[in-house]
Amino acid sequence: VTKIVIIGAGAAGTTAGIWARKTDRKAEITLITKEKYPEYSRCGLPYTISKHIPEFTNLITHDAGWYSSFGKMNLLLGTEATNIDTNNRTVAIKNLQNGEEKTLEYDTLVIATGSRPTFPPIKGIERKSNVYSLRTIDDAVAIHEAAKKSKRCVVVGAGLIGVETTEALVELGVEVTLVEFLPSVLPLMIDADMADMVEDALKEHGVKVYTNTAVTELIGESKAEKAVLKNRNTGEEEIIPTDFVVISAGVRPNTELAVKAGVALGTTKYIKVDSRAQTNIEGIYAAGDCTEYVDFVTGQPVAIGMGTIAVRQGKVAGINAAGEDAEMPKGILLTRITKIFGVEVAAVGPITDSLEKAGIKPIVGKMSYSSKPEYMPGGKPLKAKLMADDKGRILGAQLVGYEDIHQKINVIAAAMQSNMNVKELEWLETCYAPISCPTWSELTLTAEIITRKIKKKA
Ligand SMILES: Cc1cc2nc3c(=O)[nH]c(=O)nc-3n(C[C@H](O)[C@H](O)[C@H](O)COP(=O)(O)OP(=O)(O)OC[C@H]3O[C@@H](n4cnc5c(N)ncnc54)[C@H](O)[C@@H]3O)c2cc1C
Repeated sequence: VTKIVIIGAGAAGTTAGIWARKTDRKAEITLITKEKYPEYSRCGLPYTISKHIPEFTNLITHDAGWYSSFGKMNLLLGTEATNIDTNNRTVAIKNLQNGEEKTLEYDTLVIATGSRPTFPPIKGIERKSNVYSLRTIDDAVAIHEAAKKSKRCVVVGAGLIGVETTEALVELGVEVTLVEFLPSVLPLMIDADMADMVEDALKEHGVKVYTNTAVTELIGESKAEKAVLKNRNTGEEEIIPTDFVVISAGVRPNTELAVKAGVALGTTKYIKVDSRAQTNIEGIYAAGDCTEYVDFVTGQPVAIGMGTIAVRQGKVAGINAAGEDAEMPKGILLTRITKIFGVEVAAVGPITDSLEKAGIKPIVGKMSYSSKPEYMPGGKPLKAKLMADDKGRILGAQLVGYEDIHQKINVIAAAMQSNMNVKELEWLETCYAPISCPTWSELTLTAEIITRKIKKKA
C-alpha cells in the first residue's frame, strides 16, 4: 500500500488528496493542516465579512466526517508538520492542542503549505491590536467583528484582496480609506490605463482612494488611531483618523519546512517544481501558493498565488504521488477575475510591466465599447485591451465592464493556450444578437487593431 502524506489541507493539498484517492483506491492518504477547519474557500472570505455569504462555515467544502467516510483520507486538523526526513521518508507532526508528537512514514509527499500575508515596513505597526490581514476564517471573523463596532478603516494595498475587503467593509457601513503604493488600483492584475472604471466605482461608493501613496506610520498606544499617509510624488503627508487597519500588501510563501528538508527554491524564492509538480527531490511534490511555475508567455518563473492554479497543480501532484502520470500545461496564463461594486475586471497573461521586464514590447489593441449594439437599450460600457508581439503571438488581454467579462477572458485564454495568433482571433466567428452582443466582438476588433498595426510596421 502506497503511503501518501500531504502537508497543508488548503485548495492545493486537498485537491491532491482527492486525486490521489481517485488514482489509487488503496493508498493510505494523510492530510495535515495547522488550521482547525477542513479545506475552505479562501476566495469566499471577503463575502463572509459582508455576510453576503451568511456563515463563515458555509465556505467549508466538505465537513471533517466526509474525509474519513467518503474520501477515505486521514485528515489531521490542528496539526503542524515540523520536520521532513528525506532519508527515512518520514514527517514529524505535532498536535497543536495537546502538544503530542508523532512520526508519519511516506512513500510520496506533497508539500502544499501555501503562503501568509506580509506586513510592509510601517512605523508603529507592531503590537497594535486593531491591525488585521485576511487569509483565514479566523481573520475574516476578526475583521467582521472589528467592522461591526467601527466607523472608519484604512485598507493598505489595493490588490485583489484589498479591494474585495474594501467592498465588504463598505457594505457593512464602514468608511474606508484605501491606500495603494503603486500608481493605480489592482496594479498587479491590470495596467494603470485599465483601472479607471474600478477606481471610479470605489469612489462612487464613498471609498477614499489614494494611489502612489505609502502608509508610513500608525499612531496610537496599543491601537492604531491615526494613519500617516505619504504621497510618493510630492512627499506631502496627511494624517487620518481610523478605528482599525487591514493590511493587504502581499504574501510570502511558507517554504521554511521544505527548505530545511533540502527542497530547492527557484529564482522567485518559491518552491521550484516541474510540469509534474515534482520538486528537486524524487517523490516529493509541491503545489499551490508555495510554488513557482513557468509563465506561458514570458517563459520565466512566476509565483503562483491563485486558487485557479493551486487546484490544477494539486490535481497533477496528487495523481503523480499516487503513481500515475499527469502534467501541467507548459506554462500558466494566470487567468484572473474579480468584481467590485458591479464592475467586473478580468485579465489573462502578464501585465505590460511584466512583459517589458521580460524584454517584450507589446503591440496594443485597445477600445471602449458597449456590451450591446449602439441602437439597443441596456448596453453597458466596457473597456478591452489586447496585446500581441510583432509576429502576432497573443500575449494577454484585460477587460473591464459589467457583463460577461469573465467569459470573454476565458475565450482569450483558450486562444492563447491553443496558440491561436492575432490574425486568427480577428476572424473568430463570434455570436451576435442585438439583445445579447454586437456583430463584431471587442475580441475581434482589438485583434484587428493589432493586425493593422503589425501590417503598417511591416
Ligand atoms: C481573501 C482571498 C481571496 C482570494 N480570491 C481568489 C480568487 O478570487 N481567485 C483565485 O484564483 N484565488 C484567490 N485567492 C487565492 C487562493 O485562495 C489561493 O491561491 C489558494 O488558497 C492557495 O491554496 P494552497 O492550498 O496553495 O494554500 P493555502 O490555501 O494557503 O493552504 C495551505 C495550508 O497549509 C497549512 N500549513 C502551512 N504550513 C503547514 C505545516 N507546517 N503543517 C501543517 N499545515 C501547514 C496552512 O495553515 C494552510 O491551511 C484568494 C485568497 C485570499 C486570501
